[in-house]
Amino acid sequence: MSTKCPECKRLELAVQVSIEEIHAVVKGSFETVGEKLNRLFEKQDIRDKATQSLYAHKKTHFQSVAS
Ligand SMILES: [Zn+2]
Repeated sequence: MSTKCPECKRLELAVQVSIEEIHAVVKGSFETVGEKLNRLFEKQDIRDKATQSLYAHKKTHFQSVAS
């Protein structure tokens, strides 16, 4: 969509990158299962925060009548 502001694009990219990182961990091989799970939880946490930031930012668009 062309109406997206730079901040929307930046946050959406952050979500996309974090999802790709989760996939990379899932496919990757680690010394132990515990290490793999730790990495996975870490990446999922980053993704959740990125998603929350995106939604929080998008709400500001609906709230403002301007632009
Ligand atoms: Zn935006």
